[in-house]
This record gives sequence, C-alpha cells and structure tokens, in this order.
Amino acid sequence: MKTKKIGVLALQGDFYEHAQILRFIGAEATEVRLPEQLKNLDGLIIPGGESTTFGKLATEFKLIEPLRAFCVSGKPVLGTCAGMIFLAKDVGLKQPVLGLMDVKVKRNAFGRQVDSFETDLQIPVLEPKGLFHAVFIRAPLVESVGKGVEVLAKLDDGTIVAVQQGNLMATSFHPELTQDTRLHRYWLSRATKP
Ligand code: GLN
Repeated sequence: MKTKKIGVLALQGDFYEHAQILRFIGAEATEVRLPEQLKNLDGLIIPGGESTTFGKLATEFKLIEPLRAFCVSGKPVLGTCAGMIFLAKDVGLKQPVLGLMDVKVKRNAFGRQVDSFETDLQIPVLEPKGLFHAVFIRAPLVESVGKGVEVLAKLDDGTIVAVQQGNLMATSFHPELTQDTRLHRYWLSRATKP
C-alpha cells in the first residue's frame, strides 16, 4: 500500500511529537505552515499547544480558510487538546477557530498547568483492547455534543474527552506524548479507507 502523507500543523505546540509517532507507524509526516503545504496530503493533525496562538498565526498566515477547506474535503483530521479547541464550533470565548465540529468545549477545564494529570482511559474503538494512558495538560473538556458526533472516550465521572464526527476526530488529551501508538494507528486506518 502507498505510504500515506500526513501534514502536521506546525505553527506552534507539539507538532514534532506527532510527526515522530506518524513516522514510527509508517506514514510520511510533513510540517504545515503555509496554505500550499496542504496540497497532496492524505490527512492532517492539529497538535496541542495554545489555541489562541494557533488562531492568531493561522489568521496571519492566511491559513484559516485553506484549513477549513481541507477539513470539509472529507480527509481525516485529528485535533489534540488545543487542536480539539481549534476544530470546535463552540469554545465559549471569542477567538479565531475553524469551528467545524459540532461540540461545545470548555478550555482549561481542569485548571492550570499544575492541575495537569494522567489517567487510564477506556477507548473501545482501539485495538488491541486495553486501557490507554492519557496525558491531560491544561486540557479542554467537551461539555456537549451535537447529533452527528460519536463519543469515543469518557473519564470515570462521565466527562467526554474524545470525539469523532465524520472525518474529524479530537481528543482532550495528548496521545503523542506516550509510547502508545494505537490512537494514531486507529486514526490513520481511517485515513487509508478508500
Ligand atoms: N489550554 C490550551 C488552550 O486553551 C490547550 C493546552 C494544550 O494543548 N495542552 O489552547
């Protein structure tokens, strides 16, 4: 099978870690900072970082509309943490976002940097089965989801932390910061469907 070429939005944040995992699982990873770099990609990852900074830089680099067009083209897109915020329709605050996923998120929902935490999650779509160690850093939570949104994972208290809507997938946590490649592989398998 042809190697998939995946772009990682590299305006700010931990794009390098995503690229490393993608290469490890056999994809080609390329950094995206300019609209023309979205051409010929099979998928796109929007990493963790600071969503307000993404918004500011994406506006400056004239990336907002090209990114939206990429997302609506149907190719798989994964947003992690700030990437989830950047994809969401409702972020509760006025800041430039792509606004495509029918979810309402709450930024910094678990508190400040010192309140960052790690926990083991059930993510039933992942294979092989088994808990997924998830790292939350000033993470958002999903307050509510629209009709077409599938919930992929919740904390024990019911808080939604991973969602999927058509070709768009988003997590509150950072799957790129552990050695567990299952979430990236699951997402990439969707990127390889005809
Ligand atoms: N708190 C950040 C924001 O609001 C997200 C943090 C992260 O990506 N680790 O954008």
